[in-house]
Amino acid sequence: MKPVKLWLEEERIGHEIVPCLTVILKTPGCSWAHTEGCTMCGFSRDSDPEVTQQEIISQLMYALEKHREIDMIKLFTSGSFFDDKEITPETREDIFRRLRGLRMVVVESRPEYITEDVFENLDFDFRLQIGIGLETADDEIRLKSINKGFKFRDYKRAVNILKDRNIGVKTYLLLKPPGLTERESIEDVMKSIKKIRGLTDTVSLNPCNVQSGTVVERLWRAGLYRPPWLWSVVEVLKGSYEMGVDIISDPVGAGSQRGPHNCRKCSKDVARSIRLFSLQRNIDLLSGIEHSCECYDLWQTVLNYENHAGIMEV
Ligand code: SF4
Ligand SMILES: [Zn+2]
Repeated sequence: MKPVKLWLEEERIGHEIVPCLTVILKTPGCSWAHTEGCTMCGFSRDSDPEVTQQEIISQLMYALEKHREIDMIKLFTSGSFFDDKEITPETREDIFRRLRGLRMVVVESRPEYITEDVFENLDFDFRLQIGIGLETADDEIRLKSINKGFKFRDYKRAVNILKDRNIGVKTYLLLKPPGLTERESIEDVMKSIKKIRGLTDTVSLNPCNVQSGTVVERLWRAGLYRPPWLWSVVEVLKGSYEMGVDIISDPVGAGSQRGPHNCRKCSKDVARSIRLFSLQRNIDLLSGIEHSCECYDLWQTVLNYENHAGIMEV
């Protein structure tokens, strides 16, 4: 069986840039999405309740046979790697055995599945990093606007387990959940970064995009939601870099109406600079970028006058 998607890209391990394979595995899907689901997430379209554990292994083998010359792998499931209903403990052991010899492995999980027990029989010789979608450090925004279903204290508990085991933590923050203005969303992310900077190794900033079948899509279709500006991403990256935080962003769908965007003229270039900054962590790539397009002034006006629907389109 083939994975949902796989691609080769460059990634960073410490100061080194290395070849990295990203694999999106088809699994039975996120348990939270089956019952509730987050307002911006359309990942369930990549899952299939009939997928067997053997098929999960065969997807991984397909990917590894296709791309042998890699140092790092990001193994995503559109859910949680440590959720037994998606991937059983035996399959996880098997996967980690097959990944031995790599330098770094990244997986993702909701915090409730990160327990002392899940690591008991997991044997690995690579650097392991676990991505957690905290989205915001503000419990009210996370519960009401994103419907994430867990609290900051759950995230903290999971992080402490990982830190005790020397496992790296990457925290995803969502820029502009529904119901927040552009300015409020920047402030929320900056506040969140201040709160988690001592807990996480890396922050991954996800500017919200409009995925099909989601609450965010319904709001967007009704003219009640606009994805964030790329200038807001730049603002957060610069502010966080100054605070000494290791931050990256891959603005998915950048430049399209469903994705984070500025004006038509500059969106692609600004997105490219954001991605390059994320790879190289070189702040020079973003300095002075605000002079590259006149829509920067419009963005500043939006920050001052936007209503909660976020509507001041260009
Ligand atoms: S964002 Fe994560 S936790 Fe929320 S529904 Fe999607 S996969 Fe599940
Ligand atoms: Zn522009």
